[in-house]
Amino acid sequence: MGLRKLGDDLYLYPGSPGTIIRATPDGVVLIDPGHGKGRHKDLKREVRKLGMEIKAQLATHSHADHVSAAPRIGTPLLTHRFEFSIAESPLNRELLTFGSKAPKGFLAFQFPEEVKVHGIFEWDDELFGFKALKLNGHSPGMTGFLDEENGVIYAGDAFFGERLIQSVGVPYLVDPESFKASIEELQNYAEKGYLIIPSHGKPVEGDEAKNLLDFNLKRVEGTEKLILEILKNPSSVDEIAFKLMEHYRVERTPQRLALNLVPVRAFIAELYNRGEIDAIADKGLKWKRKIG
Ligand SMILES: [Zn+2]
Repeated sequence: MGLRKLGDDLYLYPGSPGTIIRATPDGVVLIDPGHGKGRHKDLKREVRKLGMEIKAQLATHSHADHVSAAPRIGTPLLTHRFEFSIAESPLNRELLTFGSKAPKGFLAFQFPEEVKVHGIFEWDDELFGFKALKLNGHSPGMTGFLDEENGVIYAGDAFFGERLIQSVGVPYLVDPESFKASIEELQNYAEKGYLIIPSHGKPVEGDEAKNLLDFNLKRVEGTEKLILEILKNPSSVDEIAFKLMEHYRVERTPQRLALNLVPVRAFIAELYNRGEIDAIADKGLKWKRKIG
């Protein structure tokens, strides 16, 4: 696998997540170094081929698959301030995806080590020629990186490729309203002709970008409607997740079910706050659609 040139001094190294490589006069900046045993070596080799060295790393968010290669690369890592403690503490990462300490090997991607963060940024900050875009919803501080000169946005996990969504059923999110707002923000850039790159999927632009963003949005809106339909009968979060996966024809393994509990809880909070559902205690915590 080699580098894909995206524009002046801007490259994409493929992977899931893909890594952005930006050459600056002072050295190379990476976005989302990724994970895996050899990832740090691959990235260092590709950067050496450009005749440069890595000087800093940025992360769209601190899920382990995006940052676990960072310590082995060994240059300073910057995250949004909401993502700081998620990178630093493996327990915080488990909290975010399981709700507490998680059973070993149970989550989609677990990395038991600390990932040191050397600095934080805010949305709208200018960083190495990128503007930090607020694209939260998938995680609290999810950030996209906008390169205006090259007309490129690295969007992290603000949206996903169609294949990934088909394989999980429900897009992973912790706040449906901000997830939807982030997709709408990206739709504006798709209208303007930007090349938009998801971390897990291929870069898209023009109609392809608009269609894929629309597919993501419809899946979130559709999931919300399905949950309201399911809640005509009082159901627990587990039962809702199980039924959603049945509907989307996703294989129902304990691990996938555990992962889907997170977005389902987020939808429940949203529907509860809107006054559309009630909580009841009936052989467990259940949720029920309000009549009328
Ligand atoms: Zn993620």
